[in-house]
Amino acid sequence: MKNIYNYRLDKLEKLLMEEYGQKKYRATQLFKWIYEKRCSDFNQMSDISLKFKEVLNNEFNLNKPEIFKKQVSKDGTIKLLLKLEDGEMVETVLMRYNYGNVACVSSEVGCNMGCAFCASGFLKKKRDLTTAEMVGEILILDELLKSEGENKKVTHVVVMGTGEPFDNYDNVLDFVRILNHPYGFAIGARHITVSTCGLTEGIRKYANEGLQINLAISLHAPNDQIRNKLMPISLKYNIEELMDAVRYYEKQAGRRVTFEYILLKGINDRKEDAIELAKLIKGTLAYVNLIPYNPIKELIYQRSDESSVHNFLDTLTKSGVTATIRKEFGTDIDAACGQLRAKNEKK
Ligand code: SAH
Repeated sequence: MKNIYNYRLDKLEKLLMEEYGQKKYRATQLFKWIYEKRCSDFNQMSDISLKFKEVLNNEFNLNKPEIFKKQVSKDGTIKLLLKLEDGEMVETVLMRYNYGNVACVSSEVGCNMGCAFCASGFLKKKRDLTTAEMVGEILILDELLKSEGENKKVTHVVVMGTGEPFDNYDNVLDFVRILNHPYGFAIGARHITVSTCGLTEGIRKYANEGLQINLAISLHAPNDQIRNKLMPISLKYNIEELMDAVRYYEKQAGRRVTFEYILLKGINDRKEDAIELAKLIKGTLAYVNLIPYNPIKELIYQRSDESSVHNFLDTLTKSGVTATIRKEFGTDIDAACGQLRAKNEKK
């Protein structure tokens, strides 16, 4: 059985034509049923012939993950622990910004990147998520939102949950294409963000996809010395190589990246760090998103004091770098990546 949610439109067209002798428009018809109308039963698709319905029922399923656990925060943030078909668990989060409903999607079961400050890495990567499983994360959040109000749905997606998207490149790219497609979720490219810890081959490949989807890069340090301690990936792709890839992306894609920078007390939040950071990214179009650290019980890292955060922002701004401080959500419900899943596994 093939899961229909695994296929982006052009791949579904090709499959239906080559394997099942169908006309090209069949795929569009199916896309409209499953994404526009959210129909999850082939038998109810009224403009599909009985004969083809039979093929669909025999060959395809519309399986989605199931909600294993749901936490709702005071600010309305929803965190779900989803159970996949093989029993593995992943987290999905919905945050409510004033501009829309933002889904934070996981891309892998566990993560191998091993960032020192992150709870996701407590559990090593078990496998990639399929495209269908990532699509399922959005379908499920949309169902929850619809129960709040007929017109409510996910309006923005960030691939910033557990996992490294460029370590699961093809499935993630198919997923974002389904999000973006007018017959798919029809979410505008500028409302979708993929975040990488800095896999530079992935950045270069992504630069040539011809997509307008945003790219965020987890930088978290102004130099290799600090970054090597926080992010093992930095030993493989150092900052110079990373900046090369960023410049390549800017040139090829014609877009700017966002650098994510978690402020960790006494580690990367000093004035000289801000000055070095500004120097590093001068000459690129990038801007910086400063992230208040979400402390994790098992780890030694602490969040920077409010005054350090503001001084850091101030130094960047005075050095000509555009920077903002990320708003926080759901701090009362294990909202840091991987915390809920890790807690559940422990039990
Ligand atoms: N692997 C990708 C995407 C997942 S992590 C990446 O590294 O970008 C998404 C973002 O959350 C990254 O910037 C990551 O560094 C950050 N993050 C991880 N743990 C965090 C924590 N405890 N508090 C705040 N941000 C965290």
